[in-house]
Amino acid sequence: MTIALRYAAHSDVGCLREGNEDSAYAGPHLLAVADGMGGYAGGEIASAIAISALRPLDEDVPHAEDVSTSLQQAVEQANSTLTQRVKDEPWLENMGTTLTALLWTGSRMVMIHIGDSRAYLLRDGEFSQITHDHTLVQTLVDEGKITEEEVATHPQRSLLLRALDGRSEVDPDISVSEAKVGDRFLLCSDGLSGVVSESTINETLATETNVEATARRLIDLANRGGGPDNITAVVADIVDTTNGPPPEHEAAIAGAADQRDEPAMTPDTPAGRAQGLNRSSGDTAEMQRMPSGDPPEESKGSAQPRTRRWWPMVVTFLAAAVVLASTGYYFGTRYLDSQYFIGPSENGENVAVHQGIDSDIAGYSLSEQVEDTGVPLDMLPENERKSVDGTIPADSEENASERVKELRAKAEECERDPESCGQDGQNADRSEPSADGGEQSPADEHKPRSLPDSAGGRQ
Ligand code: MG
Repeated sequence: MTIALRYAAHSDVGCLREGNEDSAYAGPHLLAVADGMGGYAGGEIASAIAISALRPLDEDVPHAEDVSTSLQQAVEQANSTLTQRVKDEPWLENMGTTLTALLWTGSRMVMIHIGDSRAYLLRDGEFSQITHDHTLVQTLVDEGKITEEEVATHPQRSLLLRALDGRSEVDPDISVSEAKVGDRFLLCSDGLSGVVSESTINETLATETNVEATARRLIDLANRGGGPDNITAVVADIVDTTNGPPPEHEAAIAGAADQRDEPAMTPDTPAGRAQGLNRSSGDTAEMQRMPSGDPPEESKGSAQPRTRRWWPMVVTFLAAAVVLASTGYYFGTRYLDSQYFIGPSENGENVAVHQGIDSDIAGYSLSEQVEDTGVPLDMLPENERKSVDGTIPADSEENASERVKELRAKAEECERDPESCGQDGQNADRSEPSADGGEQSPADEHKPRSLPDSAGGRQ
């Protein structure tokens, strides 16, 4: 039987971090996750260096008996590179990284692990964590001083007891086991395992069939959980290729290792110089070495390749705009509903009460007529008629009704005594249509008009 890996690697910056310090790799023989830490670009550099140190093992797989030693040496090389980088660039002194990697030769699998990134195995329906966190809280759990449930809220839950940092000897866990067809592996950073419960991870691994979809689904779940940290997931299935070609796809690189090409060896060693020559002939994005001293200005900010999430800013902006528009609409309509004024009716003949303000926006009127009082404009004294034409504001409907009563009283007074209102002959010039559609006769023109009942027509 011939076995092979079907794999996927994805990394996401999460919802809160500006840059991605995680790195991941998945290839035909190697799976790896590194979770970097440190100021400025330190975490990105450290995790990318760790991945870069292991990658050659995927292309030039050691003999079965040498796999453990080769992995150990690659990790020690990564640690030496970190040491040298800190010497050259002292501002990187706090950088470091976790590293969890699996390397296959045939069915034999060697795992190397340092830090709190995790590897899980789903085999025959059984889900298990196959790494042991090198953290203070895990030690406290092992010693029975706190429970598993207390880990999530422990103030020092992020404190690592072991990491790849270039300042101390490398002390990784190394284990050897046999892989089986049907095995499904997950390697992840704590941005996933610290947010998504193990039962949900188990269920996702057990139900999703496609490795790509599984990795993306797990990252999506962590983001839905708030995404407080960078999130990385490498998912791989062990498949039997005896009766068919092996799954052919290129190695997948994700996170900081995909953004920057860090040398795995220091350039002042023969191997490092050889690696540098090879790198200079390819399409690389090697970081420029900086002189010792303070970090250059550009290394403090925008010069570092960062994967910014643009959609939270867009969503936030749109949400704020919607809230502002909704708030403005709410208070605007409340204000308009509280305003009244008296003006000509819609047909221009009578006094009417309107709700809103006498204005419009882009042709949209900000008022509506609520009552046609039936009081003819031309029965009002001239000064009152002009006031109504120019609209009379009222701060309430009651206030408007009171004002209408006054206008009606004046119209009635004018009806009784037109001369007192200066209306004698005033309406003689108006030629209103008669009932039969003809013009009013001169006799009709001087016939006194009568006011309708005080109950106007409310709209
Ligand atoms: Mg992390």
